Amino acid sequence: MDRIDLHCHTTASDGSMSPAEVVDLAEKIGLKALAVTDHDTLDGLDEALARGREVGLEVVPGVEISAEFKPGSMHVLGYFIDSRDPGLTENLATLQDSRRTRNPRIVARLNELGLDVSMAEIEAVAGGGQIGRPHFAEVLLRKHYVADFNEAFTRYLAKGAAAYVEKYRFTPAEAIDLIHRAGGLAVLAHPYTLRLDGLEALADELARLKEHGLDGLEAYYSEHTPQMTADYLALARRLDLAAAGGSDFHGVIKNGIMLGSGRGDLAVPGRLLDELKARKRGRL
Ligand code: AMP
Ligand code: ZN
Ligand code: FE
Ligand code: FE
Repeated sequence: MDRIDLHCHTTASDGSMSPAEVVDLAEKIGLKALAVTDHDTLDGLDEALARGREVGLEVVPGVEISAEFKPGSMHVLGYFIDSRDPGLTENLATLQDSRRTRNPRIVARLNELGLDVSMAEIEAVAGGGQIGRPHFAEVLLRKHYVADFNEAFTRYLAKGAAAYVEKYRFTPAEAIDLIHRAGGLAVLAHPYTLRLDGLEALADELARLKEHGLDGLEAYYSEHTPQMTADYLALARRLDLAAAGGSDFHGVIKNGIMLGSGRGDLAVPGRLLDELKARKRGRL
């Protein structure tokens, strides 16, 4: 079976490997295609696409946009977007600005809680790319304020935790629309993070999102059990949505998740990409 990975992060957002390095890794482990899906930015795409052409690996230009949602969190993946789309670039800049105002406020909260961390330390870990909460988690871990990455989130960084600070988000409909206007397909990432109560509640939400133009959902994912994957594949068929899948690889940030294979047992079939392409053709 051809294997692919349609969800990963690079140094353009909160991954630890550059776009070219992630493409090289994908080629080395024998993936047939890779989608690069950094949070709220297209900055890594041209480098990844160029490297893909050099090494002969299919690279799908993507993005992962955070949307407003309660009770959990919603991320919408965009696939086959134009990496230089002016409208999308401009709208993502709003989200990037909001991160820039949020980040020092997280540092201030952490300081108030008695933790000695500075914006300069966070920036050093981010290495010039866009800053996200995993960079804060990494600094808290290095300074032994927490025992592991998860503790950094549950104690300080997760929604509702002690140092959580809101940032601007688009509504789900806006996120879907932005992706479509940039020529892409919109796919709901890791559906369980919506934290809806049961599969039928998720089915209702997916039906609403589909009215706004949602094209698919992520069925294969590092944190999904085989049962969850089966349930999401069945939901996709029932609602006539495409199924996608990927590891959400971040390199050494978020340790334990490998490109292509997740926690070891992830295998995303290549035919999913063929089906996504067929849907994309249907949209044109
Ligand atoms: P941000 O871009 O600052 O909103 O941070 C989003 C990143 O933080 C994503 O890569 C998530 O995987 C990670 N993240 C969010 N919530 C948690 C959590 N509770 N535990 C671990 N990682 C999380
Ligand atoms: Zn991330
Ligand atoms: Fe995500
Ligand atoms: Fe992600």
